[in-house]
Amino acid sequence: MEVTLLGTSSAIPVPGRNLSGTVLVLDQEYVLFDCGEGTQFSIRKIQLHPSKIKTICITHLHGDHSFGLPGLLSGINYSNKSDHLTVIGPKGLKEILDVSQKHQQFFADFPFSVIELDFIETPEVVYETGKFQISAVSLDHRIPAFGYRFSEKPGSGQLNAELAGKLGVPKGPLLGDLKEGKPVRLPDGRVIHPSEVVGEPRKPRSFAYITDTRFCSRSVLLAANTDLLMHEATYLADLAMKADETGHSTALDAGKVAALAGVKELVLFHYSARYMDLSPLLREASGVFGTVSLGHDFKTLKIG
Ligand SMILES: [Zn+2]
Ligand SMILES: [Zn+2]
Repeated sequence: MEVTLLGTSSAIPVPGRNLSGTVLVLDQEYVLFDCGEGTQFSIRKIQLHPSKIKTICITHLHGDHSFGLPGLLSGINYSNKSDHLTVIGPKGLKEILDVSQKHQQFFADFPFSVIELDFIETPEVVYETGKFQISAVSLDHRIPAFGYRFSEKPGSGQLNAELAGKLGVPKGPLLGDLKEGKPVRLPDGRVIHPSEVVGEPRKPRSFAYITDTRFCSRSVLLAANTDLLMHEATYLADLAMKADETGHSTALDAGKVAALAGVKELVLFHYSARYMDLSPLLREASGVFGTVSLGHDFKTLKIG
């Protein structure tokens, strides 16, 4: 499981920094967080298949996080997608897509649905599959905005089929029962317990994506104990007043959220165009949280 940052600029793209979009790559599918202009292009540039996107989480409707969505959905039409796509975001998202479909004449040939969120005070699950949950919480921005947390569901451990064979378990449904944690009785009457042939399950992995927001205790709750937190760092702390006026965080705020939430690793992104040299942002965040790095476009990070 890994994430690739597709854009790290705030408000407007600058050379080398596109607008917000981050793709979480799972075994068989992708989860996309935000879809600023150019996201579709970046996904294709790194040779991911847009048709494998099954879930899109939009933090808020400011253009630098959402203008790319109609284009991406329209582009997916060319990928022979047939399975379902779920788009999650603030109220208004459905209307935007309806208007775009009506007047820009794009029609998705694949099934897709939109989940619109109201204010969420404490993190709650807004979407889940057999393999993962997406939780969201309201952030503190100028318009309704949501932070998202991806949490893998606990899986079963690895079955040692060779050992099971040596113990006399025949190939077939009994192996499936053991993998699901059920003891099985063999034809000769012996009972084999899952702990004899199935290893410890891997620790579920988690990822939090938080942008655009002032420093906010709800962010800390959302990110608690995640393996990886991506947090916006639009400004340095000397522009804390500007950050507050515009509903953004400083690099110091990002570091504080990571420290309070006890995350394993922090990655900064969503930088103001005024910063060409990003090292002061890294220094500032690392003053309060050690395991931090600068996000840059097309950076890939493994989770867990
Ligand atoms: Zn933004
Ligand atoms: Zn914004």
